[in-house]
Amino acid sequence: MIKRLTLTLLVLFIVTTSYASSLPRHYPVPGGIAVIELGSHRPDKVTFKKRKVLVTLSDKKWYAVVGIPLSSKAGKHKLIVTHQKQQKQIKFTVNKKQYQTQHLEIKNKRKVNPYAKDMDRIIKEKKIIGSALKAWTEAHDVSFTFELPVQGRFSSPFGLRRFFNGQARRPHSGLDIAAPEGTPILAPAEGTIINTGDYFFNGNTVFIDHGQGLITMYCHLNRISVKAGDTVKQGDSIGQVGMTGRVTGPHLHWSVSLNNARVEPKLFLAKKYQNGLQLKQEE
Ligand code: ZN
Repeated sequence: MIKRLTLTLLVLFIVTTSYASSLPRHYPVPGGIAVIELGSHRPDKVTFKKRKVLVTLSDKKWYAVVGIPLSSKAGKHKLIVTHQKQQKQIKFTVNKKQYQTQHLEIKNKRKVNPYAKDMDRIIKEKKIIGSALKAWTEAHDVSFTFELPVQGRFSSPFGLRRFFNGQARRPHSGLDIAAPEGTPILAPAEGTIINTGDYFFNGNTVFIDHGQGLITMYCHLNRISVKAGDTVKQGDSIGQVGMTGRVTGPHLHWSVSLNNARVEPKLFLAKKYQNGLQLKQEE
């Protein structure tokens, strides 16, 4: 009996302490995350560039977890914190980061320079994808400890500045993981499926809402095995790796979005995956 009680207490201790230390890493660069201490009271609202920001409790203190868009400039930025009708600003610094450049040849020219008739579809889909990434659902506990959704080789890093057939395109807004077609894709953390669809560039796509503006997106799937409204637990299958949409081979394109800013997915993974993510002063 006593043994069992000790075990229960031990389990409780591990569970509570793991919650307390679950803040993501403070990595304030374009495409990174700023973790900003807010004090001992939960503010009514925190915004960054007019967008609502995730807040979370850790060790009895509240923190804002802010996604920094890849297009942000290095330098001083500010959060607006509203509490009991009082507003204050908290300034923080975004450091410089130089992302690599890559040139890619895409054989399907239509996926680089779409036909006029494709443009209607692309514009419609841009709205659907945009509103999924902007979703805000209140959530008490948001987990920042993700598991890798697919076992495979990281084939293209987040933030890569890309040229398709010699033409500049937007920087890479996710992490590519190469794996054979049919490899299962697992939910990295619990959440609700907010959208699935087949899109011109992204192919078969799934969006998971993890709460408070933390959204993950999975593209180029061969098969989707969930539908909007489903809830998933960490490790549940959401589909299979494929090569639908604009691809050069089978892989998962995985994006993580915070306050509608696409951020480095590796920041949510175990430390062993975070090689190469150093700040200048840490080097
Ligand atoms: Zn990609």
